[in-house]
Amino acid sequence: MIDLRSDTVTRPTPAMYEAMCAAPVGDDVWGDDPTVNAFEQAVAEQTGKQAALLFPSGTQSNLVALMAHCQRGDEYIVGQQAHTYCYEGGGAAVLGSIQPQPVENAADGSLPLEKIRAAVKADDFHFARTRLLALENTIGGKVLPHAYTQEATALAREYGLATHLDGARLFNAAAATDTPLRALCQPFDSVSLCFSKGLGAPIGSVLVGSRELIERARRWRKVTGGGMRQSGIIAAACWHALEHHLPSLADDHRRAKTLARGLANLPGVTVTSQATNMVFADFPQRHAAPLAAWLGEHDILIDLLHSARLVTHRDIRDADIDKVIAVMQAYFNHHD
Ligand SMILES: *Cc1c(COP(=O)(O)O)cnc(C)c1O
Repeated sequence: MIDLRSDTVTRPTPAMYEAMCAAPVGDDVWGDDPTVNAFEQAVAEQTGKQAALLFPSGTQSNLVALMAHCQRGDEYIVGQQAHTYCYEGGGAAVLGSIQPQPVENAADGSLPLEKIRAAVKADDFHFARTRLLALENTIGGKVLPHAYTQEATALAREYGLATHLDGARLFNAAAATDTPLRALCQPFDSVSLCFSKGLGAPIGSVLVGSRELIERARRWRKVTGGGMRQSGIIAAACWHALEHHLPSLADDHRRAKTLARGLANLPGVTVTSQATNMVFADFPQRHAAPLAAWLGEHDILIDLLHSARLVTHRDIRDADIDKVIAVMQAYFNHHD
């Protein structure tokens, strides 16, 4: 199968399985898992933060970060298109009693500074207390400009707001801009990183921040059911990915570019965006269902019906990209 639906579909490599098998483990709820402890310390160091905490998912890592920053009745400013706001079941409101204050994202994924400024509430008991600014990098594959994150977080500090970054794909941003991870994390109080996206681990996200914030997060992780036992096997997979899989992100980005070029040459197809490992394209609506079926017959999985988002990842090779374009071209040769 050539699966371009997401970079979450990668399978562990034999070497990753070996690392998982060899990992010394203990009960991490008791703080006894040596692999988790060492991995968390390594991630804290790489991101330039005091402490780190391993989670089973990025959704839980983001939720717990919001709960560690905000109290009941607080609000967080977040992008209208942000994952935490759109795609996490409204967890901050449902489970955290935190009110989201969405702000329309600009085309580059940023939240315009004047809109952030306008969204901050006065200290008045009629209003929720504005407490946190949450950004996302990459967003829709796009890398937030570094100067922008500096300005936005400085603005947040001016209003006494904490700052969180949903960095599910921050490794892609680092690879695309050749910037150290710690520089991308530096402006933020907390950052959530996913190892189960482009990095290719089966499970695992990490929240980084100050020691104090991570201790509050540890409590909320337990409350939300994220305290895990011999989770060293997960940490070992993530650590293996961190040590061995970063270089291949540049290949994913190159393949996404090739894919975008190929798609743009197909009749009626418009590439609306290509950045890092993501391609967004508009397909003629009447072709979406039959084309998806045709691709399926050729062992190609693309979600054309919902949002035509094509994502490259470790389990996609150069030849796969060529095949996808050829199979699509063959479809259009017989349909107009
Ligand atoms: C995938 C993703 C998450 C959540 O990660 P899960 O591990 O799937 O819960 C959060 N934010 C962004 C931007 C993501 O792409």
